Amino acid sequence: MASIFANVEVGPKIEVFALNKLYVEDTSPVKVNLGVGAYRTPDGRPWVLPVVKKTEIQVAESENINHEYLPVTGLESFTKASVRLLLGEESAAVKENRAHGVQALSGTGALRLGAEFLSRKLGRNVVYYSDPTWENHHKVFSGAGFTDIRTYRYWNAEKRGIDIDGLLDDLKNAPEGAVIILHACAHNPTGCDPTQEQWKLIADVIESKKLFPFFDSAYQGFASGDPVRDAFAVRYFESRGSELFCAQSYAKNFGLYCERVGNLTVVQKDAATTAAVLSQLTLIVRAMYSNPPAFGARIVDAVLNDPILRKEWYECIKIMSNRIIKMRKALYDELVRLGTPGTWNHIVDQIGMFSYTGLNEKQVKLLIDKFHIYLLKTGRISMSGLNENNVSHVAKAIHEAVTTIPN
Ligand code: PMP
Repeated sequence: MASIFANVEVGPKIEVFALNKLYVEDTSPVKVNLGVGAYRTPDGRPWVLPVVKKTEIQVAESENINHEYLPVTGLESFTKASVRLLLGEESAAVKENRAHGVQALSGTGALRLGAEFLSRKLGRNVVYYSDPTWENHHKVFSGAGFTDIRTYRYWNAEKRGIDIDGLLDDLKNAPEGAVIILHACAHNPTGCDPTQEQWKLIADVIESKKLFPFFDSAYQGFASGDPVRDAFAVRYFESRGSELFCAQSYAKNFGLYCERVGNLTVVQKDAATTAAVLSQLTLIVRAMYSNPPAFGARIVDAVLNDPILRKEWYECIKIMSNRIIKMRKALYDELVRLGTPGTWNHIVDQIGMFSYTGLNEKQVKLLIDKFHIYLLKTGRISMSGLNENNVSHVAKAIHEAVTTIPN
């Protein structure tokens, strides 16, 4: 009897993890990992934020903590703090009890939970994401049952900036009810966010065409060092009375990648509809994984709800974002010093964890094969993989790639 698995095909590799494996297996002393979007210290190591370290010890030692199940919707003090971090204490939706959170398995889990709800309970089938976007958006929404997955124009390769006219045009042509995924800040992979004026134009179209904004907030505070500034877009939509979903991740801004701490914030027009919506989200969580893990959420909860710890956290996110900004400048300066053909302002102008270098696939291949520098095929680099010891090696490699391989 043949195995029931005999005809299962091997699925395609997930590029970012395959790249990481190649990096780990590479024995070159000059290798550089610019693939995975995880913060690294100046000496290239992962960083446990001191405030997180301190709080996890407190949580572990607390007499009041046990390992009973959390409610299906998660730790309530955490979800409340999370909604307030996103929308601000003064938001009308918070004050009027129209904004609620459901704890989720980091940003990905929050996206999936929201997508499941939109697909199953509201029958939404059309979703738009930016071209390009984080590669998992497609998988998450198709996995949740969306069958009509489209893109809106976002990146103008020539200008190395946002194609705002193309973006608005594509949204204007979207069918009523379509779900629009918007990166709240620090767009992955381009590092290029709409300006405040552009957000206004985007909100006008979304409102007038009755589209549904689903924000993906994976970098609040990590991008600029200021959580309020990084929440501008979401808060702006909320201030216009827009209903929205927002998937929040605490992977980057707390360095809690593997603890899977996230939240789905739901903003509704009317407090009267919240009980029904939350009950349906509860049923979706119940069927998928029953209830979320507690440890990471307890850490974020403790930090966000304590003014002193919160201040320490602000200092940590400033350290991370400043180091990234410094590395942008260092790479830019090196390329200018080498006289590398092309313009490189975009490296310093872009924001957040990534830079979209503009290198093409052949140039990327040269960086990997000859220089042991690992980056995605699209030319996206994770800035925190750079440090003072490797930035000149990376600049030299980029210089050789653009001078020997045509664009
Ligand atoms: N959205 C975007 C745009 C991201 O870059 C990421 C992290 N790479 C996520 C969501 C979710 O990450 P996580 O599930 O680890 O929170």
